[in-house]
Amino acid sequence: MNGGCKAGIDHCSCTYTSCGKRGNCCQCVLFHRSRGEVTGCFFSPEGERSYDRSLENFVRDAARRQAAGR
Ligand code: SF4
Repeated sequence: MNGGCKAGIDHCSCTYTSCGKRGNCCQCVLFHRSRGEVTGCFFSPEGERSYDRSLENFVRDAARRQAAGR
């Protein structure tokens, strides 16, 4: 039992293919939250590929998206 978290790679947009948490949202969120970070799926494709999951990078990424009208 995994607390209702459905694992599956089909909904995971993370490109860090060597990560064992890909497709398991519960583990992914727990890991990044414990580090004060955001999961890769909240970033734009460009932001995600930086592999920088910090809140600062998320804010920069969101500002770039907003400026670009995306
Ligand atoms: S966002 Fe982080 S924990 Fe989640 S699959 Fe990607 S690298 Fe792994």
